[in-house]
Amino acid sequence: MVSLTFFGGIDEIGGNKILIEDKKTRVFLDFGQSFTLLDGFFVDWLAPRDRFGLRDYFALRLMPKTRGLYNEAAVAGTNLQYCEPEFDAVFISHAHADHTAHLRYLDPRIPLYMGECAKSILHSVQETSPTQKFFNEEAKEKKDGTQEEPNDIRAFRTGKEITVGSMKVTPVHVDHSVPGAYGFLVETSEGAIAYTGDFRMHGNKPQLTGDFIREAKAFEPEALIIEGTRVGGDGRRKNHTEEFVRQESGKVIAGAKGPALAMRYPKDIDRFMSFYRIAKQTGRALVISMKTAHLLNSLADDESLGLPKPEKDKNIEIYAREMKTYKKWEKDMLEKCVDSKWAKENQKGIIWELEFASLAELVDVEPKSGVCIHSMSEPFEEDPLSQLQDNVLQNWLAEFGMPYHQLHASGHASGEEVFQIIKEIAPKRLFPVHTHGSGDFPKHVKVQKGKKIEI
Ligand SMILES: [Zn+2]
Ligand SMILES: [Zn+2]
Repeated sequence: MVSLTFFGGIDEIGGNKILIEDKKTRVFLDFGQSFTLLDGFFVDWLAPRDRFGLRDYFALRLMPKTRGLYNEAAVAGTNLQYCEPEFDAVFISHAHADHTAHLRYLDPRIPLYMGECAKSILHSVQETSPTQKFFNEEAKEKKDGTQEEPNDIRAFRTGKEITVGSMKVTPVHVDHSVPGAYGFLVETSEGAIAYTGDFRMHGNKPQLTGDFIREAKAFEPEALIIEGTRVGGDGRRKNHTEEFVRQESGKVIAGAKGPALAMRYPKDIDRFMSFYRIAKQTGRALVISMKTAHLLNSLADDESLGLPKPEKDKNIEIYAREMKTYKKWEKDMLEKCVDSKWAKENQKGIIWELEFASLAELVDVEPKSGVCIHSMSEPFEEDPLSQLQDNVLQNWLAEFGMPYHQLHASGHASGEEVFQIIKEIAPKRLFPVHTHGSGDFPKHVKVQKGKKIEI
C-alpha cells in the first residue's frame, strides 16, 4: 500500500511536510513552517517556549506528534517518548524557511537529502544568524559534556536517482527565487508521484522548470503534488519577469543623482545578479552586507552559478556596520569592508543593498538625492505587521527625500501557468499545496491535514 499524508502546506502558504509511505518505507518531502503557523496562538514576544522543545507545538496541534521522527532534545520536554528513528529519509526541495525551518527538530540519524546548493545556503544562514538552526554538520558538545550527533546529510545534484527502501527518488531542478531548487519524482511500488516544490516560469532559467515538467509527464504520475501560491489571490498584483525588473531598475538607477537603495530577499541570488549587472553597466559599486558576502563565499565553489567573488570583485564593496563587538566570521572579513564614512563620501556612485533591519544606517550615511527600489513583495493588505513595516519604511524614505519604486518578480508561477502545467503532466490525481486557492484548482483530491490518503 502507498499513501500520502500532508502534515503541513494545506490551505496555507508554505509549511510543506508531506509523508509518503510505501510498504515499510517512510519518506518526508520538505519539513518547513508556514508563514502563518504560529499566528493563532503567538504574536510579538509571546513565542513557543524553546526550552521545552516541541511541548507547545504538540499541545496546540501545530506539529505532528509522531514517534521516531524527532531528536531527543525536541521531545525531552514533551510527553512523547524518544525512540529510535522510524523514518527513512527527508528530502528538501529548496532552502526557503517555509520548507526547512523545522529540520532542527529531526532525529539526526534520519538521512537528510538536499541539493548541494541548498546545503551551502543553509550552512551560511546558520553561521551568520544565531537564531537560525537547521542541522549539525559536525558532532557538537552539549552543555552537560555529552555529544550531539551530526546530521546524516546527503547532498545531490539534478537527475541523481536515489533509492530509499522500496522507493526511488529523482530530484529534477526547477527555477525559483533561490538557487538550487528542485522538484521530486518518486517511484513507488504503485506508480509515480511528482512533487513540484516551489517554481516559476518567468525567472532567468525557465528551462529548468521545463525540464521538470517534461520528466514528470514522462513518468505518467499517479499523483501530482503542485504548489499554487498565486492561485486564487487577487489579480491586482503585478506579474513582472526578472528581466523586466532588471531593465526598469536599471533605468531608475541610471537616472538617480544620489545613492540607490536596493531592498531584496536575502536568498534571492537572481535579484542580486540583476543589481550586480546594473552596477557594472552604470559604473556604480554594489554595496552588500557582510551576510550577503558570506553567502556568496559559501556558493563560490559552485561554478554553474557564475557568482562574483565579493572580496575580489571591483564592482562590489562589503559594508560593515559599526558595532561594539563582531562575531568571528565578521572579524575575518572586517578589513576588506567599507564603513558608513566611505558610503557617505561615495554615495553618488553606489547601489546599496540595505535591509529593513539596517535602515538606521541612513543616519550615518545621510543620503542626498537618492532613490529606493523595493524589490520584494508589496505589503499585504490583510497583514497588519507588513502594513506597519511599510509605514516605517515610507517614513525613513520621506525623511531622506528618497522616492520609492516597487519592482519585483515573484518566485512563483501564475495561476494560469500552474493550470497549464497540470494539463500537460496530466496526473491521475491532483493535490494542490502551498496555496490559499485550492478551491480554484481543477478536479483534485480534498485533503485533511494529518489524514492518510491511499494512492
Ligand atoms: Zn515555499
Ligand atoms: Zn520557496
